[in-house]
Amino acid sequence: MTLHTGRHFLQIPGPTNVPDRVLRAMDMPTLDHRGPEFAELGHAVLAGCQRVFRTKQPVIIYPSSGTGAWEAAIVNTLSPGDKVLMAETGQFAVLWRGIAEKFKLDVEFLSTDWRHGADVEQIEAKLAADREHKIKAVCVVHNETSTSCVTHPFEVRKALNRINHPALLMVDTISGLASLEYEHDAWGIDVSIAGSQKGMMLPPGLGFNALSEKALAASKANTSMRSYWDWHDMIAINKQGTFPYTPATNLLFALKAAIAMLEEEGLDNVFARHMRHGAATRAAVKAWGLDTVCLDPHAYSPALTAVMVPDGHDADAFRKAVLENFDMSLGTGLGKLKGKAFRIGHMGHFNDLMLMGTLSGVEMGLDLAKIPHRSGGVLAAMEVLKGRDVVAMSKSKAAVA
Ligand SMILES: *Cc1c(COP(=O)(O)O)cnc(C)c1O
Repeated sequence: MTLHTGRHFLQIPGPTNVPDRVLRAMDMPTLDHRGPEFAELGHAVLAGCQRVFRTKQPVIIYPSSGTGAWEAAIVNTLSPGDKVLMAETGQFAVLWRGIAEKFKLDVEFLSTDWRHGADVEQIEAKLAADREHKIKAVCVVHNETSTSCVTHPFEVRKALNRINHPALLMVDTISGLASLEYEHDAWGIDVSIAGSQKGMMLPPGLGFNALSEKALAASKANTSMRSYWDWHDMIAINKQGTFPYTPATNLLFALKAAIAMLEEEGLDNVFARHMRHGAATRAAVKAWGLDTVCLDPHAYSPALTAVMVPDGHDADAFRKAVLENFDMSLGTGLGKLKGKAFRIGHMGHFNDLMLMGTLSGVEMGLDLAKIPHRSGGVLAAMEVLKGRDVVAMSKSKAAVA
């Protein structure tokens, strides 16, 4: 039996810590999802999601994991044989591609070394060479949670616009939404895919699609099979604040509370908080003499930090030492980073002292697991947190032409 003598530190990059206020909001009698009270909740969360995605277009809320929302994006807009361009930024890109292949899409998978974001110049070159417009969609992962590398969606939009290519732009922002700046409309995203258990501070169980007019038109024209994921059934009945099948009612209570918390803090402050915590964590990693998985400062994730362990050492043995000694869960290395890297989640419901506790646990764990490193990472992070003027990572609001 595991004893917790205080709060467990859940520092995996999703599911993240759920605020007490959100937990209390869920603790309600389940209500009739076809009754009059429900519609008020339905309208509130649908409108709230539009504000979080920063869109005037419909947002779909599924009772699903993020994986369901990935599948929904594909089955609504694409048909077997359609060509799509995807970028192998890490394990989540690999998994999304797996779904695309199961639906018999013709995937061109642009590789990276898993230590950078997607190569936007390469995407642009592929699109420019596609004069017949065979490519129906470009799919990128905004915050690649396996590597902590960001691909900036507006840069991909600019590439599409420069060559006037009509492909849909689909963005997995499952761990980006509500932790990194995100502008569904202003960045010209056609389908945004998200989930509840990362920056949204909710338990797992909700998947989201935000749409564009172009994506909606593509889905209307698309005759391939889908039922559960069909956007049009959802949108039709969402107008009354209700859902075509039983929604995850209590998670919707939670969603309403989480959106209220994000808006009370202010989304821009939420993003700035994540950037500070990212900067402080990277300062600690640097002081330890370790390497972040991400090699490109333009792609550093504010939401989590993946850290390489030196050759000959096992990242999972280190994680085990941290769990057993300090009751803290860190993220495991995924895919080809298994055993080679660990991930520190600093997204969602999180503050300076939670970060200091987290980094202290990492530093002590490095000692216990005999991972070669220097001490002083925690102090370096404190210096960053004491300075309140961390330079914004990249001011991406720059309008998309
Ligand atoms: C967590 C995550 C997923 C998968 O979401 P599930 O809810 O586990 O299905 C997909 N993409 C990214 C970037 C993620 O962080």
